[in-house]
Amino acid sequence: MKNFNPADNIQDLQYFGEFGGVNPSISDSSTYTFLSAKTMFDTFEGNMEGCYLYSRHSSPSNLYLDKALAAMEGTETANVSASGMGAITPTLLQLCGTGDHIVSSRTIYGGTYAFLKNFAPRLGIKTTFVDITKLDVVEAAITSETKVLYCETVSNPLLEVADIASLAKIAKKYNLKLVVDNTFSPLSVSPARLGADIVIHSLTKYINGSSDTVGGVTCASQEFIDSLKNVNSGASMLLGPTMDSLRSASVMKNLRTLHIRMKQHSYNAMYLAERFEKDGLKTVYPGLASHPSHEIYKTMINPEYGFGGMMTLDVGTLAKANELMELMQAKNLGYLAVSLGFYKTLFSAPGTSTSSEIPMDEQIAMGLTDGLIRFSIGLDNDIERTYQMMKKCMIELNVLT
Ligand code: PLP
Repeated sequence: MKNFNPADNIQDLQYFGEFGGVNPSISDSSTYTFLSAKTMFDTFEGNMEGCYLYSRHSSPSNLYLDKALAAMEGTETANVSASGMGAITPTLLQLCGTGDHIVSSRTIYGGTYAFLKNFAPRLGIKTTFVDITKLDVVEAAITSETKVLYCETVSNPLLEVADIASLAKIAKKYNLKLVVDNTFSPLSVSPARLGADIVIHSLTKYINGSSDTVGGVTCASQEFIDSLKNVNSGASMLLGPTMDSLRSASVMKNLRTLHIRMKQHSYNAMYLAERFEKDGLKTVYPGLASHPSHEIYKTMINPEYGFGGMMTLDVGTLAKANELMELMQAKNLGYLAVSLGFYKTLFSAPGTSTSSEIPMDEQIAMGLTDGLIRFSIGLDNDIERTYQMMKKCMIELNVLT
């Protein structure tokens, strides 16, 4: 089988602008003309490839980005959306209806957790949350109503790793769709190559990489994406989370540097994780041998892109975490902000921010401690300098001695 390299697949795409520009022209239209009424009818029926109808359905700019992200993930096609949640919720609603059941990892992005826990039940969709690293527990949670197995490759915020190949086998055995949110590990992991049916990203994070927009994508088979966009029954078409063409053009430009950025994020995160672990801090990073899923993750990654840019440090208490984050921001080491994948380091305490939707008793059960700081490590040029500056902040606050 031909070696699969997601960055090469993006590199190999060649688009020309309308006037031969090296960037494809941006389609600045919400609606499209037809030279004949018959073509318009056929397009509505879904029979006219290459014809555009209305930009909530698709636009040339969005299709360029769809194609690039499908090439990156090795799926037949893709559908971009206005946000990561705008990809996740229509995908799950397309797969599940009243009476259906989802088995989901319990350590997932707080918004997805809140959707599954609080919103989906209003539509008759129930979810069982499990420890995704325990395959026997995952299998035991499946019922005759289960339609979907849902997880994040590397989970938010605990950085648990889902063994996608094994989960894919379980999904196949019970005829479920394995849906994987790969937001934390673009290029590093290619879930569809490991057997996932559908791969989702919040483009807001690494893929766009400049924290200037929200965006999302669902990468899947042509059949599934056609169903999402069906004018009569497609959740994306009917709920309307469409990405704007101007935005898809700008995300597309940023996608071209993703491979360089991911290598630097991974290098920097590994560097800091090794140092802080050696200093005696409770450090979680999938690249460390101490990470419970390190060995399995090593077999899953496309090694040149590394173990990713996300790391957590536990500094004991929320008060200490807050003090440290404020000091690091004051020293210009990064921003006290949610989200990830920016050129500067971002840090937040997940228990009181991105995972605050998760009730306290459940946070404790899943190991989400008070003093946990989630870092999205930036593209810093001199990471030893950054390490020394961070360490100084920690010594000043008695986090390190
Ligand atoms: N998935 C993960 C892993 C996330 O971290 C986030 C946002 O933080 C989302 C999905 C939601 O994406 P968006 O904010 O683009 O809707």
